[in-house]
Amino acid sequence: MRAMILPAPHKPLVPELRADPAAGPGQVVIAVAARGVCRTDLHIVDGELPALPHPVVPGHEIIGRVLACGAGVDRFKPGDRVGVPWLGWTCGVCDYCRRGQENLCPNARFTGYQIDGGYADRTVADARNVFRIPDRYNDTDAAPLMCAGLIGYRCLRMAGDAHRLGLYGFGAAAHILAQVARHQGRSVFAFTRPGDTAAQGFALQMGAAWAGGSDDTPPEVLDAAIIFAPAGALVPAALRAVRPGGTVVCGGIYMTDIPSFPYEILWRERVVRSVANLTRQDAEEFLQIADEVRLQLETHSYPMSQANEALAGLREGRFTGAAVLVPESA
Ligand SMILES: [Zn+2]
Ligand SMILES: [Zn+2]
Repeated sequence: MRAMILPAPHKPLVPELRADPAAGPGQVVIAVAARGVCRTDLHIVDGELPALPHPVVPGHEIIGRVLACGAGVDRFKPGDRVGVPWLGWTCGVCDYCRRGQENLCPNARFTGYQIDGGYADRTVADARNVFRIPDRYNDTDAAPLMCAGLIGYRCLRMAGDAHRLGLYGFGAAAHILAQVARHQGRSVFAFTRPGDTAAQGFALQMGAAWAGGSDDTPPEVLDAAIIFAPAGALVPAALRAVRPGGTVVCGGIYMTDIPSFPYEILWRERVVRSVANLTRQDAEEFLQIADEVRLQLETHSYPMSQANEALAGLREGRFTGAAVLVPESA
């Protein structure tokens, strides 16, 4: 099979031919049809996450069809259309796993990071961390649901019942989440890089009530804000925009340092929290919502061999929505 490999941080991905993988006990082999390009992939390429000893196949927004099932797999059969998210494996026995916080499992392994992921013709996944995909989405549109959608949804859960919701960074996650929030009757206020009128226009198109720069004051005080952009300076900005008792959720796996700020903007029971990874329950819940709500996905397709171009496009903010790597012929 063909795969795009990251040999080491700070290097471009390189194509490689590898032997077709086989399914071990509890695993499925998946013929990959589409894989989303996530900002986390960029953080891995840029060496912003703890480094790994081995080359890795990135990609954790995988959509494909089951080719083969290993021993003991009864949830799936060959031909089923499935998705694989970032959470690739958890131990199931540690305190975190037992208390329903498997996203914090210290033994967890992540797809496209510790486990070879979806930038390949085929991938192997633990069947317990594989999900059925609603029929209403084609393979390309379904790909960003697997991380931008799932982890975005976990962030939204952590924002509680906030009615006026700020979204800082209007990329793949926010464009999905804005639609879910709207469906739930919330008002969305979108913050982009100052002067990024394309992203602001896109946010309004996706249902935001207001869109402006991250240095702008929103027209209403917010009940909660979710920060998707990896810029620590947004934390004090968001704290200034939320009401007393409101929450600021940091949704990214990586963020630059947060500048110091006066206690006054945190006081009156404002909360700052992060969201890490996802649980399988988040995945089930979000995919159920995605089945009920007709989400409009904006995707930009690149052939898999152009993974480096797709990553560069994401880094430079060359497109709105999400990039997806598709077969060469598409
Ligand atoms: Zn565990
Ligand atoms: Zn991701």
